[in-house]
Amino acid sequence: MKQSVVDAFNAQIQKELHSAYVYMAMSAWLEAESYEGFASWMAVQAREEMEHAMRLYKHVLRRGGRVKFEALEAPQGDYDSPLAVFEEALAHERYITRSIHELFQVAADEGDLPAQRELDWFVDEQVEEEENAQRAVDLLRRAEGSEAALLMLEREFGERTDEDEDED
Ligand code: MG
Repeated sequence: MKQSVVDAFNAQIQKELHSAYVYMAMSAWLEAESYEGFASWMAVQAREEMEHAMRLYKHVLRRGGRVKFEALEAPQGDYDSPLAVFEEALAHERYITRSIHELFQVAADEGDLPAQRELDWFVDEQVEEEENAQRAVDLLRRAEGSEAALLMLEREFGERTDEDEDED
């Protein structure tokens, strides 16, 4: 694995770990505000981000590269509402999608076929991540001002499990 590709993978590992950190902060805020369903959904999301990081980590190590960690930036930790939380999650996933596409381009420029094949999974995953976050934002916008609608969403979001994500 060329060092430029290893460096780019390490930068993405950092971003996936930071994503987990951001979603844990969101989950903590939601739980503190007694939105247990949304908090649980966000905790599943945080664990999924750890898995994304580990997937890249394993790819680097299997191919003889070195994994390198940097300090993680502190997440914001304070939000206005569940809608604001999910709007920020959507913006964050859009940023991660751009980052994955750039990483894919580095692998393509270096002619690294195994890296591109590994990243195919991430390209597909980001379509799903944006879709999930967009759906949450749409539903929360629609529920705005209705405590009953919010409670129904709370219940639905609380049903998300880690197993829902292990489908590939
Ligand atoms: Mg991710």
